[in-house]
Amino acid sequence: MTDTLSRALFERAIRLIPGGVNSPVRAFRAVGGDPVFIQRAEGAKLYGADGTAYLDYIGSWGPMILGHAHPDVIRAVQDAATRGLSYGAPTELEVKFAEKIQSLYPSMEMMRCVSSGTEATMSAIRVARGFTKRDLVVKFEGCYHGHADHLLVKAGSGLATFGTPDSGGVPEGIAKTTLTLPFNDEAALRDLFAKVGTQIAAVIVEPVVGNMGCVPPDPGFLEALIALCRDHGAVSIFDEVMTGCRLAAGGAQERFGLRPDMTTLGKIVGGGMPLAAYGGRADIMSVIAPLGSVYQAGTLSGNPIAVSAGLATLQHLGPALYMRLEALGARLEEGLARAVKDSGATACVQRVGSMITLFFCEGPVRSWSDADKADRKRFAAFHGELLRRGIYWPPAQFEAAFLSGAHTEEDVDRTVMAAAEALKSAS
Ligand SMILES: *Cc1c(COP(=O)(O)O)cnc(C)c1O
Repeated sequence: MTDTLSRALFERAIRLIPGGVNSPVRAFRAVGGDPVFIQRAEGAKLYGADGTAYLDYIGSWGPMILGHAHPDVIRAVQDAATRGLSYGAPTELEVKFAEKIQSLYPSMEMMRCVSSGTEATMSAIRVARGFTKRDLVVKFEGCYHGHADHLLVKAGSGLATFGTPDSGGVPEGIAKTTLTLPFNDEAALRDLFAKVGTQIAAVIVEPVVGNMGCVPPDPGFLEALIALCRDHGAVSIFDEVMTGCRLAAGGAQERFGLRPDMTTLGKIVGGGMPLAAYGGRADIMSVIAPLGSVYQAGTLSGNPIAVSAGLATLQHLGPALYMRLEALGARLEEGLARAVKDSGATACVQRVGSMITLFFCEGPVRSWSDADKADRKRFAAFHGELLRRGIYWPPAQFEAAFLSGAHTEEDVDRTVMAAAEALKSAS
């Protein structure tokens, strides 16, 4: 199904780059087939190596909320580039960026810029540990927080099971400092705090999970998480690398009216450039060097080109955009749900705002053990049929698809039609 130019490039790539890709999910291993190599992108469209147009529902895995090559963002990058690419010294741009982020995320009283979501979560946890002088970190099964050692940990089974590494190369000693629980299991979290609450430095969560497919929090779950952390002197961390500026300009915390102790941002805030940020309560953030003893640094942190792209993107995040994304999302959700029903397939559609997943299992999916029931083979067939019809859907069952401001009603309707056909021929 992949064009011949992409195939030729892939053959060259796999000789030098493990799996032919610089990030694993791009390899299409979960769905079979070869990846499409991209030569350019504009609006809601990607163009493959041979010029084939695809309607894009990945958006570079989240950042491209305005669509690709938005003229204002491109202009900001071009302007910034003429003034030099990196100084290794502070700039007004970084101050403006921090002020803008603070206005959208009042919980981020102080913040630091870094270059990737992984760096943001890794640093936030180091800070939380330094602040609390405790070691244990709690995460939820199916949540992804980047590839730092202590976050590549799968669930043990159930309550208070010490983590085992989910990846080669992660020392067990490090994995043991991470405890995992089922997402949406408030009782399990309460029990864990009752047992080891005085040793817990932080609880990190995707407030709406995107990395096991789109899974919303049960009402009250996030509120309980924040309260439990507060009562036990632990730090609550909302990993909003995906949801930040996606579910609202102020992320999931704005959408749900919550105030975590710390927040991590990435993806959209960089407008497609390598930029991320972490921040939170001023007393917590004050442990960072040079103010305090927790070391965190970066040669390219707050890079002027990346910050310029981020600022230009943030300027467009108003109510009009989110109303439009909500309407497009609802239209896509209804269309896909109808197509599922008509096809008789066992599947469910879950959506929050412009994040959406079609799971090949019965709903609702509330946690990883629910998501894990999804039929990956049927998803792979569905994905292949969509790609054949020019729809570039995430190449894995457990990823959220994203809409952008560049998508149109016609795009959504075309996608629903393609999905209806794909569900029929893939069943
Ligand atoms: C993408 C993602 C990360 C990692 O960000 P990178 O920039 O890929 O390092 C962390 N947390 C969440 C929730 C993400 O979606």
